[in-house]
Order: sequence, then structure tokens, then C-alpha cells
Amino acid sequence: MSQLQNFRDQFPLLEQQVNGKPLIYFDNGATTQKPSSVIAASGQFYQSQNANVHRASHAISTRATQAFEETRRQVQAFIGAQYSHEVIWTSGTTHAINLIAQCWALENLTAGDEIIISVAEHHANIVPWQVVAEQTGARLVAVGLTDKGIVDLADFETCLTHRTKLVAVNHIANVTGMINPIEAIIARAKEVGAKTLIDGAQAIAHLPINVTELDCDFYVFSAHKMYGPTGLGVLYAKQALLMQMKPYQYGGEMIKTVSLKTGTVFNELPFKFEAGTPNIVGVVAFAKAIELIKDNFDFIHQQDAALSQYLFDKLTDTDGVELVFSRQADIPLYAFVVNNHHNQDVSSYLDSQGIAIRAGHHCAMPLMESLHMNGCLRVSLAPYNTMAEIDIFIDKLTVFIKGETDSCLDTGSGNELATSIRSESMEMNEIIERFTQAKSWDQKHREIMLLGKSFERMDKTLRSAQSLISGCESQAWLVAIKQGETFYFYADSDAKIVRGLLRITLAAYQHKTAAQIQAFDINAYFEKLGLLSHLSPSRGNGLLAIVEKIKALALS
Ligand code: PMP
Repeated sequence: MSQLQNFRDQFPLLEQQVNGKPLIYFDNGATTQKPSSVIAASGQFYQSQNANVHRASHAISTRATQAFEETRRQVQAFIGAQYSHEVIWTSGTTHAINLIAQCWALENLTAGDEIIISVAEHHANIVPWQVVAEQTGARLVAVGLTDKGIVDLADFETCLTHRTKLVAVNHIANVTGMINPIEAIIARAKEVGAKTLIDGAQAIAHLPINVTELDCDFYVFSAHKMYGPTGLGVLYAKQALLMQMKPYQYGGEMIKTVSLKTGTVFNELPFKFEAGTPNIVGVVAFAKAIELIKDNFDFIHQQDAALSQYLFDKLTDTDGVELVFSRQADIPLYAFVVNNHHNQDVSSYLDSQGIAIRAGHHCAMPLMESLHMNGCLRVSLAPYNTMAEIDIFIDKLTVFIKGETDSCLDTGSGNELATSIRSESMEMNEIIERFTQAKSWDQKHREIMLLGKSFERMDKTLRSAQSLISGCESQAWLVAIKQGETFYFYADSDAKIVRGLLRITLAAYQHKTAAQIQAFDINAYFEKLGLLSHLSPSRGNGLLAIVEKIKALALS
């Protein structure tokens, strides 16, 4: 058996069908799948080992504590930290960065100090610093990127001053897939006396990390992006800093003594920062994820490089695809757009074909802003992905771009449908009938796209800031006209899929009174259409925002 097959076989989730097609999971930048060893360790812990840690003086608590602390030592070795108590458990990268902001930055920064980040940071490494800046009077400075998508060292030099107190940058950005020159950044930051924080969320599954050699002050990452459990992350910080920092959550576990007479003495490291019962099962199972990476170290790096090259070549050869950064990435992660098509239309079509990719701003709105983009598509692969999966993805993408999908055809039943929509004769019942006939998600998706295609576009003058629906990944507009006691709605969107959903949603609300609109059960309607499990009115696809706006307009 090949090493790839052997590695892939450890991830049971990958063997499923999605929307009637074999799943192709290309959203590893959001989270990676879990190997059987991690899944089994979680189950085994609850089955035979469950007890609280560090507390009781009984056998299973001792065993749980040993396993819990053993993982801390494994992480210490994995990232080359000097002491295991420099590894603090958090709920993830976001929590770790917030901990640094609260416990270190708010205590040490004053008005006029500067925090440097890059424009390509995840919101988790931007928003905490905006809040710190607001509260302390410090200034937040964002360094630009080079054409390749890495931190521009020349720009960094111009931003660095004797007032710089913190440099917080990612090791690999979640939209660029490029390794930043963090060694140079750390060295220069040190020269001006600034502390350094490296967001390793995207790097930890792909690169060997040695925090002692890097000599950064803080390094943070999430277990779920490296085959481990969700709800667990690591804050690495140098011992000296952790000793100086005050805790920010108080309660059990983080204390040595508590007296109502003399007050509280905080616990030693690392417990000072781990108030309350931690994610014990997560930590114990995480050990298996680290073992998996260590056992497959060479394979992971070879496969990453091979996938990155193959994917780059294929994407560049596909007409209509434009890479956001057109060079081979350091990890198999590429951001791109498809000319003349909305990102959501591309991703929803691929989803109907069983291919999971990501569309949107990727929690990097400032980067999108600097690139003058509303969002983009992202494929992010893990070493269990294959070249054959890339081939299928590219084939499907090409079919979509060439307009060869059923939902792009202008003939047959689609055309009849289009005509019936244009004549405004289609009622809710007709939509329900069509969706009942369309059995698979593939077919339902096609119906939505056809509805979107033939949905009459709104007059541009009506697409104003006032009619814009916030909360949608795409842009959508809605206008209500009151006719006697009932309402008539006009709507539009830049994404075809959203136009289709608007058409379906509006059919349920047209010519109804305010009371009927408030009372209508949109979930039951979507259930009847067979859409609820795919496109429930949630924040994610913006449907909830649309429904809320309809209700608000009917009330006002
Ligand atoms: N930083 C980067 C670079 C990321 O990619 C992510 C996750 N997408 C985060 C921070 C936040 O990680 P988490 O949601 O696990 O806290």
C-alpha cells in the first residue's frame, strides 16, 4: 500500500459521499479531518479514563492527570519549547491571542506605543489589537505584502520605530499560503525592544516549528488545524513573560490558596492561566494528532510540496481562473476568483458535486480591502488529498466555467421555468412541485440556479445602501412596496444562487399582510422544498438576514 493510501485510510470521514458524489474535502485551512486514533482516544477517555485533572486523590484522576500532562510535554517537544510550563492550554488560536492582549498588552502598552501587524492577518490577530489600541492609546500599524503575498520587509522597516512594543504576524497567512520571513521580522523587532507574537494557526500542520530557535516571545496555534480536536489550542510564551503576566480568568485550578481573610495566592505556571476544568478529553486525544504528524513527517512535507505544485499548474492552466497571487504557494493553499462568476455560485456548484471549498472573505477583510476585492475562493489541501481529487475539482470547475452545467443550459425545462417566472405566474405551489420532482441536491441546486438566472434584475437605482441586506456573503438588495394592506417585494443579488433563493423566499411572502408575513414558517417551507439540510435560513448563507429584512420591512 502506498504511503498516501496508508495516511488517507486513517481519516474515516473522507470515505463518504456528499450530495451523491465522493467527498472531496479541500477546506483544510478551516479545519482538518481527524484520524481514527484521535477519534478513538476521545471515546476511550470517556469510556475508561474520565475524571477531573489535578484534583482528586484517586486512581482514575491520577491517570487522567498523567495523560493530560504528558500531552503538554509532547507539545513542548513538538515545538521545541524549553519548559513544558511554557505551554498553556487555550480553546484555540483566537483565545490565545486574546489572552496575550488582556494579560500582557493591556498591562504594558501606553499611549503612543505601536503594534505592528500585517494586512494579511486573520481577524483573530487584528481585532484584539484594535481593542488594545483603543483602550491604551497605542497605534496599530499594518505592513503591506509583496507581489508574492509575503510580509514586505522594506515596508516593515519603515513601520518599525523605537515606539514599537509588539509585532504580531502570521507564520503562514490563511489566504496566501506563503511562509513569512518571521526569522528576519523577529530579529529586527528585538533590536527595537519589541515583543513578537507569531500566529502559527496555518503553519503548525505543515512546518517544523522550533520556538526556541525562532526566539519569538509568543507562538499560538489551534489543535483542530493539525488533525486534533476542536476547542483546544496552545499559547506558547517565554517563561519570563508568563511569570510577569497576571492571569485574566479567576477560579479553581489557577490558585494556590484562597482565604477570605488574607486573599488569594495564584498558582504556578502553567496553571495560573488555566482557570476551571480544561478540555481534558481534547488534550488527551491531541497527543494522537501529534504522534500522527511525527510519524509521517517526511511524507507530509513531500506530499504538501507535490500537491502545491500540481494544483498551481492546474489552476494556471484553467481558462477563466485568476489566482489572487500568481506564484506557487509554500503549502497547497490557493486563493482565486473565476472571471464573470460570483464566488458563491462557484462554491455552491462545486458543493453540489461533492467538492468542499471556501468562498468569502476568509476572516481577512482588511486583506480583501487592500486587494480591492469583495472576497475570493480558497482551496486548501492536506496531505491526505490526492492528485486525482485535484483532477476532478479542475474538471468540474471547467464544466462550470464553460457553462456546461445543467444549471447554465438555456434549453429544455429550464427555459420553460424561466418563462414562467418572467410572466410572474409562478406561485409557491409551483415552486414546491418543482422541488419535489428534483430528488437529489444536484437537481435542487440546478433549480435554484435556474430561478436565479431568470429572476428579473432590479433597477440599478434601487440597489442602494438603504436596500442592501447586511449579513450576506454576497450583496443582496430588497425593497418593499405596500399595496393596501399587503406587501410586494423586489429583490436582487450579485450571486445567481442568492437570486434563486430570493425568488423562492419572496414567493412565500408576496401579497401578504404584515401579520401573515410575521406568522409564516419559513423553515417548514424550506423543509418542504428539501432545502433545509443544505440551505437552512442561517447566517452562513445570508438567508436569515433576508428573512429578517422582509419581516422588518413589513413591520415598518
Ligand atoms: N489565525 C489564522 C491564520 C487562521 O487561519 C485562523 C483560523 N482560520 C485563526 C487565526 C483562528 O483560529 P481559531 O478559529 O482556531 O481560533
